[in-house]
Amino acid sequence: MLTGKVAQTGDLEREGAAAALGRLIHRLGEPVARRAMIQAMRILGRQFVMGKTIGEALRRAEAAEKKGTRFSYDMLGEAAKTAADAERYFQRYREAADAAGRAAGGRGPVKGPGVSVKLSALHPRFEFARRADLAGPLLERLLALARDAKARDISLCVDAEESERLEPSLDLFEAAAMHPDLAGWDGLGLAVQACQKRAPAVLDFLADLARRANRRLMVRLVKGAYWDAEIKRAQQLGPPDYPVFTRKESTDVCYLACAKKMLSDRRAFFPQFATHNARSAAAVFHLADGAEFEFQRLHGMGEALYSAVAERLKIPCRVYAPVGGHEELLAYLARRLLENGANTSFVNRLVNKRAPVDEIIADPADVLRRVAPKFRHPKIPAPRGIFLPEREGARGLDCTDEASVLALADEMAAAGCGEWTASPTTAATATTAGGEKRRPRRTTDPADHGRVVGEAVDADEKDVARALELTAKAAPRWGRIPAEERARMLEKMAGLLEENLPRAAALTVREAGRTIPDAVAEVREAADFCRYYAARAREEFGAPAALPGPAGERNVIRLRGRGIFACVSPWNFPLAIFTGQVAAALAAGNAVVAKPAEQAPLCAAFAVRRFREAGVSPDALHLLPGPGGTVGAALVSDARVAGVAFTGSVETARRIAGALAARAAPLSPLLAETGGLNAMIADNSALLEQAARDAVSSAFNSAGQRCSALRVLFAREEIADRLIEMIAGAMDELRTGDPGLLETDVGPVIDGEALALLERHAAEMERSGKAVRAAPLDAETAGRGFFFAPRAYEIDSMRRLRGEVFGPILHIVRWRGGDIDRVLEQINAAGYGLTVGVHTRINAFADYVCERVRAGNAYVNRDIIGATVGAQPFGGEGLSGTGPKAGGPRYLHRFAVERVVSEDTTAAGGNASLMTLDD
Ligand code: FAD
Repeated sequence: MLTGKVAQTGDLEREGAAAALGRLIHRLGEPVARRAMIQAMRILGRQFVMGKTIGEALRRAEAAEKKGTRFSYDMLGEAAKTAADAERYFQRYREAADAAGRAAGGRGPVKGPGVSVKLSALHPRFEFARRADLAGPLLERLLALARDAKARDISLCVDAEESERLEPSLDLFEAAAMHPDLAGWDGLGLAVQACQKRAPAVLDFLADLARRANRRLMVRLVKGAYWDAEIKRAQQLGPPDYPVFTRKESTDVCYLACAKKMLSDRRAFFPQFATHNARSAAAVFHLADGAEFEFQRLHGMGEALYSAVAERLKIPCRVYAPVGGHEELLAYLARRLLENGANTSFVNRLVNKRAPVDEIIADPADVLRRVAPKFRHPKIPAPRGIFLPEREGARGLDCTDEASVLALADEMAAAGCGEWTASPTTAATATTAGGEKRRPRRTTDPADHGRVVGEAVDADEKDVARALELTAKAAPRWGRIPAEERARMLEKMAGLLEENLPRAAALTVREAGRTIPDAVAEVREAADFCRYYAARAREEFGAPAALPGPAGERNVIRLRGRGIFACVSPWNFPLAIFTGQVAAALAAGNAVVAKPAEQAPLCAAFAVRRFREAGVSPDALHLLPGPGGTVGAALVSDARVAGVAFTGSVETARRIAGALAARAAPLSPLLAETGGLNAMIADNSALLEQAARDAVSSAFNSAGQRCSALRVLFAREEIADRLIEMIAGAMDELRTGDPGLLETDVGPVIDGEALALLERHAAEMERSGKAVRAAPLDAETAGRGFFFAPRAYEIDSMRRLRGEVFGPILHIVRWRGGDIDRVLEQINAAGYGLTVGVHTRINAFADYVCERVRAGNAYVNRDIIGATVGAQPFGGEGLSGTGPKAGGPRYLHRFAVERVVSEDTTAAGGNASLMTLDD
């Protein structure tokens, strides 16, 4: 607004806001512009926030209350990350209930003021996986607030949040509604989102609850403020469909259908219709046909609409009035900015002079009738369709949906732990080279030494020789199979992985200690790899590509397989990396000998069986479980191996490179994905909640056993204390234990050697650094498996780390403004990072870091919303299969030989001479 007064709005339209602001600053001088910005922020804050304290808000409400306006006070702050945050928010809500109660003066829950509460503010882990615990402390807090509200005879409304929190919200709400302490009070309420397809079913549940609890419930019908995030989340997780509608009109129609339900059940509901859409409000008014209800609007919005409604229609309106300071304002403000900025939003269209009024107020049902039966928005494909037409995304499983989780649990239980097997596919002999009978080794669960997962027979030299002999024969045949056919086999493999998702996930949990969500993601990533390489094979290995022919000749380039590829994979992604390497090599037309990590032969054997079921001929893919020092070494030093795909440590990669170079054989490519030291830099503009959340999940998910995991967090001095406090608080909430339980955040480390290494490192950090926190770990769990409680240490420099520490240990280094070059020097001196994260809201800072830092992937989080909408979460793999490992469009090329074929088309009579060049 202020800019608009000084600069012409035309300037803004012509040049864009940034340029106009730049000119303005130039004209006014920086200090004046800064003050103007601060003032603008204040105006914006005041526009959307009722007061910094509940007292201030109540005073501001007085005049409007006299005219009949009702209020519901919301204490800003949501998604508590620590127990201390949750306690603080809880106390604020209690104060609000107390103050609002005093101001109510006995007007009762309908006419008097009330309080709105977000359950996520009352518990640091308000999520489906923690459902069992929520019934304890979180329910107690909700009940305490409800008792306060009842004692003061005011209303208490539970706000609606993200769709994955709906079921736990309903559980808690039901428990409160049925609680005898709250009997006889009609002030308990819940918000229901009409953009969710479940909305009508939720109302049926609430109607039934009202009858069971013998009370009337206040229900606030909204459309839903998290629509964008719901869409993005589903696209990441790959469920069959979205939890929300994809057309705005569907939400509008659902809103009216829900309104009808509410208005028709007077005993169950006191209806509250919250909308800024004049058309929705008008339709509700007509549906109500004189029945009692109230409208609701947000403070700072819908004023003109509802003053007219109150005056002419005499329908009361309640104002949802956020209360809080600047620190807690952001998430709320960002939702309002999204709402007002969305081009589908009623308020946005209303001020858009180009939007015809007839269209704005068109009947949404008419629009749906016109498009029926194609209700899905044409620009929003189903979650798995976002990579189409190239390929389908992997089928997912929503670990926050009760029905899916129960089905998964049953299937996982039936998956037969203890019966898995792996052995060399060559099956050369049943005896060892020394003539003894080969004995399989038992593999046990890293989370429980007493649980046998299966048995594995390791390969010996004879198996290596036999595997190479057989694949050498098979390779030319496999290479001649058309790329299209190979691609179809890989697509079939992807489908088989999906069909077997629960079994594969169960095996990954038990053999490698992955948590359930990690294991599900792992199977999906494996499936995505297959489809990704299938698509690349079609494109790069199908018809030859034309090259320029400067002298009139015709040049084409073709790719073909190199021969035998050795795929040497690690245990930390026992299914996904194994499958990815093999799929890429096969897609490019190579035969494969695969050697999985010693710790994870069963997952590899599972994948090989599926590859064969998918049609890969047995001799085109051989599996050799066994130690790297013998089986792996024999494999990569054989002259028949034409290339190696390896993921693992830098030291092993060097040894492989040496072995390849020492052979009397053509130089062969080595595709090595090795570890490194990953850092994250947070400057003092970072959104701390988000930086803390990312740091904790990146450092400790998968027990820190990801090559992309965060190892060193650089926190700028001004924010370091607060950030460290948040990280420590979030670590207190981590649960380390059996990865087969959904509530587990951190599973075991892979084996005794890994555990001993981490313990040695931690002991050293206790001496040379400052312990920040160790997450809780009970002795019984610790004694059962290879568990290491996540830890964080403050250290003075990244130089203290001599190499990658592969486990859940986070190091934190403070840095001062002006020292960013020194920070970057430390990161670059550490060698190579797979990832680097940047938390800042200053673009120039993010660009400065990205240009100078040596790391594979940079994840920049400039997000102000408090939810990672559409951004790649740092340390995550991004959208499954499109992440860094997919390696870009020409990755498959590196598994292949290039051949350029030139044809002289200038010679008369078609006397073409052929010339070929091998890469
Ligand atoms: P409209 O412009 O008619 O509708 C916008 C809404 O339509 C979007 O918010 C979205 O839900 C939906 N939408 C947009 N595009 C699409 C699409 N392509 N397909 C399908 N649907 C689409 N929200 C909560 O989530 N929880 C709460 O507890 C809550 N409390 C509120 C309390 C009050 C008093 C008010 C007024 C709003 C509250 N909201 C809450 C916000 C509300 O959900 C809406 O975001 C907001 O009111 C906009 O809806 P509208 O009817 O005013 O505007």
